[in-house]
Amino acid sequence: MNLKILILPGDGIGAEVTSAAVDVLRAVAKKFGHTLELSEGLIGGVAIHKTGTPLPQDTLDKALAADATLMGAVGLPEFDNAPPGKRPEKGLLGIRAALDVFANLRPVRTYPELIDSSPLKNHIVDGTDMIIVRELTAGLYYGQPRGIENDRAFNTMSYTRAEIERVTHTAFKLARNRRKLVTSVDKSNVLEVSQFWRKVVIEVAAQYPDVKLEHILVDNAAMQMVLRPTQFDVMLTENTFGDILSDIGGILAGSIGMLPSASLGEKKGLYEPVHGSAPDIAGQNKANPLGAIGSMAAMLEYTFDLVNEANAVNAAIGKVLASGRVTADLKPKGTPATTDQVGRAVSEAL
Ligand code: NAD
Repeated sequence: MNLKILILPGDGIGAEVTSAAVDVLRAVAKKFGHTLELSEGLIGGVAIHKTGTPLPQDTLDKALAADATLMGAVGLPEFDNAPPGKRPEKGLLGIRAALDVFANLRPVRTYPELIDSSPLKNHIVDGTDMIIVRELTAGLYYGQPRGIENDRAFNTMSYTRAEIERVTHTAFKLARNRRKLVTSVDKSNVLEVSQFWRKVVIEVAAQYPDVKLEHILVDNAAMQMVLRPTQFDVMLTENTFGDILSDIGGILAGSIGMLPSASLGEKKGLYEPVHGSAPDIAGQNKANPLGAIGSMAAMLEYTFDLVNEANAVNAAIGKVLASGRVTADLKPKGTPATTDQVGRAVSEAL
């Protein structure tokens, strides 16, 4: 298969972790007989420096021409006080909008080797393997009207039927290839938007009789994620609830450097580790590349349907964790490995 992929290293450790992920991608292509058509583009602070804008037209054109985009991270401390349109993060929101990626997938799984670094007790997190599907382009963060007026501030939570339907289809299709359970999160005891959300989800679910649907209120969902995370398979939720719940998911896995993410639209996919540009360790070859490598595995699975290849990468990540050749954030017993060394170890384990 020919894999047409845009690489956007971005800022800080973004460049280091994407470079490691691309090395592993090359190893996958070699092992499984695929060809790679890679291009590279600018985004974030580095793009502002070179072109004056966080998301140059050239990057957008390349992203629209590629099947999938692998991104590192954006953000540089020098732009912390810049106006919103001149901030690196604007590039991230811009590319998500341009690619129309409406479903954000956050796999949350615990590796036996990392279980001690989870803040929860081992027996609670052991065996956790869930995906949070968060609606990404509607709801409270986008709803109009919004604003601050004298002594009042307001936002609008709004969802159309079409916006709920498409993300629900994403969740059910995923569940079909997993343990066939979708848990839809809402606040239908209080919010009309949630009542409508629940109604539409039930209607879509009728098209997937092989997948079980459950509903849970968001406050209970937060509690259950730390009480018994193993009960969940695919968790489907709207934008704001998903933003919060996916950070709870983040701590289950141990280190932020481990967490992959995928954002899917009807046609395109955007893949990026959950972490930011980590200015405190940037340029030191210390960053954990496993979140970026896991994001690349997610790309193989969701954009290219290469499930065997994705499983092989995830198994290789498991082997590297078991070997103890890991970066400092995972607190290895001996000398921590560098970003490059971990990348090479994953390729070798493949
Ligand atoms: P961060 O994720 O960059 O870093 C938080 C902490 O986690 C730091 O101590 C960092 O060293 C550590 N860390 C993060 N990734 C790691 C990795 N792969 N290996 C080892 N340690 C890792 O979050 P922050 O410090 O809040 O933000 C820094 C910059 O990144 C800001 O400009 C922010 O806006 C941006 N940011 C970007 C994204 C994105 O591109 N998606 C996400 C979050 C933050």
